[in-house]
Amino acid sequence: MSDDYRSMWADLGLDLAAHDMLLGVLGEAYGKMYLTQANRPAGMSYFDFVMSEVHGLRIKELIDEKKAGRKIIGSYCVFVPEEIVLAANATLVGLCSGADFAMEEVERLLPRNTCALIKSAFGFKLGKVCPYLESADMIVGENTCDGKKKAYESLAQLVDNLYVMDLPQVKSDKGRDLLKAEYQRFQKAVEELTGSPITVASLQQAIRTVNAKRAAIHRLSTLRKADPAPISGMDALLVNQVFFYDNPARFTDAVNKICDELEQRMKAKSGVFPTKNPRVIVAGCPQAVPNWKLPMLVETAGAVIVGEESCVGERGTRNLTDEAGNSVDELLDNIVDRYFQIDCAIFTPNRDRLHHILEMIEKYQADGVIHYGLQFCQPYLMEALPIEKVLAEKGVPCLRIETDYSMEDIGQLKTRIEAFVEQLS
Ligand code: SF4
Ligand code: SF4
Repeated sequence: MSDDYRSMWADLGLDLAAHDMLLGVLGEAYGKMYLTQANRPAGMSYFDFVMSEVHGLRIKELIDEKKAGRKIIGSYCVFVPEEIVLAANATLVGLCSGADFAMEEVERLLPRNTCALIKSAFGFKLGKVCPYLESADMIVGENTCDGKKKAYESLAQLVDNLYVMDLPQVKSDKGRDLLKAEYQRFQKAVEELTGSPITVASLQQAIRTVNAKRAAIHRLSTLRKADPAPISGMDALLVNQVFFYDNPARFTDAVNKICDELEQRMKAKSGVFPTKNPRVIVAGCPQAVPNWKLPMLVETAGAVIVGEESCVGERGTRNLTDEAGNSVDELLDNIVDRYFQIDCAIFTPNRDRLHHILEMIEKYQADGVIHYGLQFCQPYLMEALPIEKVLAEKGVPCLRIETDYSMEDIGQLKTRIEAFVEQLS
């Protein structure tokens, strides 16, 4: 890493020694898990580059944007609408929550039985290792699950720029009204932060930009229906993870380039796994960077992941926002309509999620489902049981996994996943 980056990190207040350690571990894991895959699409080199510069060049770009008067907003949830952020001259970035860090300090603030995702968000703050968090002018928390809701009360003691968005828990008219009121309140808060009022033109442009990146991801997902699979689930997950960090237009271009390449592969009947390889959908909790444990185990066991029913996947990216509207209010309604369809397990009831899983099994011709639940995540662990029951009735094999970010259970998981893949063969 260049000296420029080191002074940039120091200026952001990072703990350079701890940060070096994190980058070392991240680089090693990436090399072992990603760069050893066979027959990767050439277009993945862009994503390798993004990952190698995830705390370097991208942060420098964000700092340059700030110098030019733009604001940076960090988010922990796919309910935070990027359209509103972009329309008010700000940039939205996802905040890392995919690795354990500073756990001793974290467990002084949060109970041990808190999910790994929430603990990780605190660990990155307490350990002073996340340049995205430290660059953000506003950090948005959201009242989703109980764990997050209460954790934001403690996070507010650690940062001075936390904004908490309330979210409905029921898909009713009242729920929709709450979401609209909260998006209006968020609009005002972002406009105040940036000093740039949202206009019809700016919101329409922002909707087009975000739709384009979602459409590129939809194109990639469609190509994953092919047999042989033209891209590994590991690589497709990485693309879905980079969705949260990269410059939107550049990301859209890179994904479309990969899709051009994958279409050529499909014409040549070439893939990353053999034809008729066991095909798996992973459903459940989000897998944020660098949480690659499960896909690595699944694909080294010989199956290919053909879809992620996850917020880092189709739950987060499906459905576009309608671009038609003559006022900010009409466009805001379109945004509310799009986000209100997100079938997060914090909603009750949440039948859409089961329907979506069944639809994905059909669409991607999956042979089985792995339900991925983080330990202590009540919403997803509770939903796993009825989902498993319905899948059993339909004769779809389902493996229910409960894990965290540590590597302690890797041997046990490997054995269970290998047995499951064997069952699908
Ligand atoms: S799982 Fe729910 S709370 Fe978590 S990012 Fe997705 S929508 Fe937000
Ligand atoms: S993984 Fe579960 S418990 Fe953790 S933040 Fe998400 S919904 Fe909440």
